[in-house]
Amino acid sequence: MNLLSAKKQIIENTDPDRVYVENIRSFFNINSKIAQKLCNVAVKRGFFDKYVEVRCPNDDSTIYSSESFEEIPSQIICQNCQLNEEDNYQFDKKDLKANTFYRLSNKYRNEKVSI
Ligand SMILES: [Zn+2]
Repeated sequence: MNLLSAKKQIIENTDPDRVYVENIRSFFNINSKIAQKLCNVAVKRGFFDKYVEVRCPNDDSTIYSSESFEEIPSQIICQNCQLNEEDNYQFDKKDLKANTFYRLSNKYRNEKVSI
């Protein structure tokens, strides 16, 4: 497997702005540990940019994403829940689960896919 074929599969199969280790794992039918390693290599080579997101505990929507967990504010509002007038729409960062995801870097995105 090389990065070009990985890129083609990612573009065809998922949102290149939001790639999870689980996507990589299932595309290539590999275990999570290897999928994580592959993502780390892709970040090192500039193929992926790494991000972290936190999700609303009520509706599971992504309420904040950033290049690092530290940059996420300590209080986060879920606009969906606020619009829906839920009692609880403001959350403490420390109570939320953070997920890592990857974004296909602009450099690779703008190149033509050639296999
Ligand atoms: Zn919400």
